[in-house]
Amino acid sequence: MSTAGTGTAGTGTAGTGTAGTADTAADAGGGETLYLEPRLEERPAALLTTGAAFLHTLVDALGSPLNVVLPGQIAENAERFRAVFRRHRLTGRVFFAHKANRSSALVRRLVTTDAALDAASLGEMQHALASGWTGDRIMTTGPKDPEFLWLALRAGAVVNVDGPGELERAAELVRAYGLPRCRVVLRLSGFETSGTTLLSRRSRFGTPARSLKHLLDTADRYRDAVEPIGVGYHLDTTSLDEKAAALEGCLTAMEEMRVRGFSPRAVDVGGGFGVNYLAHADQWSRYTTALTRAVMGERPPLTWDGHGYGLRMENGTVKGALGLYPAHRPLAGAGYLDELLSRPAAGLGGRPLGTLLLESLHELYVEPGRALVDQCGITLGRVLEVRATDTGAHLVRLAMNAGDVGLEDHGVLVDPVLLPRDIGDGGGAGAGHAAVHLMGNLCLESDLITRRTVHLPRLPRPGDLLAFPNTAGYCMDFGATHAQRQPVARRVAVEREGESWHWCLDEQYWPITRPGGQRT
Ligand SMILES: *Cc1c(COP(=O)(O)O)cnc(C)c1O
Repeated sequence: MSTAGTGTAGTGTAGTGTAGTADTAADAGGGETLYLEPRLEERPAALLTTGAAFLHTLVDALGSPLNVVLPGQIAENAERFRAVFRRHRLTGRVFFAHKANRSSALVRRLVTTDAALDAASLGEMQHALASGWTGDRIMTTGPKDPEFLWLALRAGAVVNVDGPGELERAAELVRAYGLPRCRVVLRLSGFETSGTTLLSRRSRFGTPARSLKHLLDTADRYRDAVEPIGVGYHLDTTSLDEKAAALEGCLTAMEEMRVRGFSPRAVDVGGGFGVNYLAHADQWSRYTTALTRAVMGERPPLTWDGHGYGLRMENGTVKGALGLYPAHRPLAGAGYLDELLSRPAAGLGGRPLGTLLLESLHELYVEPGRALVDQCGITLGRVLEVRATDTGAHLVRLAMNAGDVGLEDHGVLVDPVLLPRDIGDGGGAGAGHAAVHLMGNLCLESDLITRRTVHLPRLPRPGDLLAFPNTAGYCMDFGATHAQRQPVARRVAVEREGESWHWCLDEQYWPITRPGGQRT
């Protein structure tokens, strides 16, 4: 990596954003401050404090917006999942759901660990192979076009099959092109245990657990071409109950497979372990309470145009549901997996699910996306203009648009961190809380980077940077476009060595040291 200057010591307003109190505070004007301070682990927190000047240099050189990824962090996160496997004495694999972030640096750093990778498109599959992954460490999930399926089979990847149709297509390809026998995981959904009570939500993907027989009939017909190695699910829910029910359903399905003469060995519990975005639980509960009161008209709006994030008033009562990610999640990531494995299996004698997996000698597969890139990325945007309005909140226009930072789009409410242009300038005499609306660079009324009013420790100035924390999971460039020919963010990989920060373009990152000791 090239060295682009060393960071200077901490500044006044960089860091976690506020003056350190999580309590409700009143600013000079009597307004309430509703901070949603980000939870920052050591690596990103250090970058935003000691690396603030360095980040300004990067944006000066590479433009705004700019995406920064921290490859060291993904390896650390993978190790946390591994530790949970060890605690439950389970073997198996941690598959990174690549779709959460298209970074090369993250995927190349991860290949040096014992993790595996979940590819959900032909492009991701090609990217993984070109980054040093081998087929035996790849699983393919999601909708598969024929080219994707063929490459997966050619490379010897595990295919996570959606249903009998896909199983047949895979088997026919194996036969037609003389490909190696394919290991498949059968994706199930719609788990029911007691009668017809549906214990997991409806999904576009997977085969209803009750139709497993049909799937096994198909597998039976193609024994020469496919080898079912297990069953799995991926549920897009935060509910542990639903996941525990699905895991229980999988244990039953494993037994059914064995009875049918197969030798399954892996249970795949999918992804969805989640991320805790916020530093303080009380800020989150205060914010959501205030939002509800604002929708009820009991306090001034907290959002642009009175947007209610799913809540609305109807005949004097609040209707709808808050369509937000639970930004403060004390139980997330590897801790969530730990909790799932510790859950008693109600329908299988009440012993913990992890114990049942262990005793059946099943391997555990997990597919974390968002959780594996927790703390792995930051999106930077430069402040272009700050304008007063008659409502008191300022309009802050940034050199980026809503597609460049998808936090709002994904319902994740978390404050950006202000990195002043003049390092060491905490705001001077004018320092103090400011309420702002963050606007994008598109000529569209709807191009709001945040629909809520964001509270900052001081009013930004043109030239300052706003650092949107923890964007690596889906919120980096999942929805970035070239609309209006505005630039799409470049991505850089950043690592710390001693007191200095090093960077390179994401695509130029390789996890090796060049001759002479310089990082790639
Ligand atoms: C998206 C996805 C994941 C990852 O989900 P996260 O919520 O990011 O952990 C895992 N498996 C499958 C099949 C997916 O579609």
